[in-house]
Amino acid sequence: MDKMEQLWNYMQEDIKADKIDTEIRRSPLRQKLEKTRDFIMDQQKLYKEMEERVSISIDRKDGIVDALKRSEEQLRALQERLENDPPRDAESAKALLQDVEKCRKTISSYEQELRHIHKEGNELDARSRTIRHDTAVAKQEFDRMKEVYNKEAREKKTLLDSQRSKADALLHQIDPELLSIYNTVKKQISPPIARLVYGQCSGCNTSQPSAALRKIDAGDGIVECETCGRILIK
Ligand SMILES: [Zn+2]
Repeated sequence: MDKMEQLWNYMQEDIKADKIDTEIRRSPLRQKLEKTRDFIMDQQKLYKEMEERVSISIDRKDGIVDALKRSEEQLRALQERLENDPPRDAESAKALLQDVEKCRKTISSYEQELRHIHKEGNELDARSRTIRHDTAVAKQEFDRMKEVYNKEAREKKTLLDSQRSKADALLHQIDPELLSIYNTVKKQISPPIARLVYGQCSGCNTSQPSAALRKIDAGDGIVECETCGRILIK
């Protein structure tokens, strides 16, 4: 058999194997699995962010609780002074009452801040619970799909291996130099060999120059289509 025909025959089996390989990679189930895995990873990241926010919120709360305690002590001290050592004139009475008022305002703002943190904490808790729930559901779905996918992939892999051996069985007939050109062209375009039909490349339907046609006709080395780069054969 002509060496180009042998290469052509090899290509038929090689391309069948490639097709199975593509099917495995483009399996809708595999794509769904990848999407679910990405979702789970996003949720885990989000959950971590929530935890960090909760931790910041707790630190802030602790700081405010301490400041509130100090202000309350200060207020008690002012009230004690008011009882035990009342101001002797109107001016110092006014000043003391102003201090009391200022202290009360500070306490009130701390209390408001604490209520705000508490509310925010509840919201963070609720969101964290939702995230945990969604992640758990997605994980279950992922495991279920993975099991189905593994079975499907095993079957396809067996098919691929068998087709690949079928192609490989033809390899020994192929001239190594020719095979190397074939593989280089295949990286650019597949299928990498096209037949000439009425002087045209059947891969891209471009008419070939007469010099190329003569070369192919004479079986004089490899001719590649000027347009698509495929190896041309009679
Ligand atoms: Zn072409």
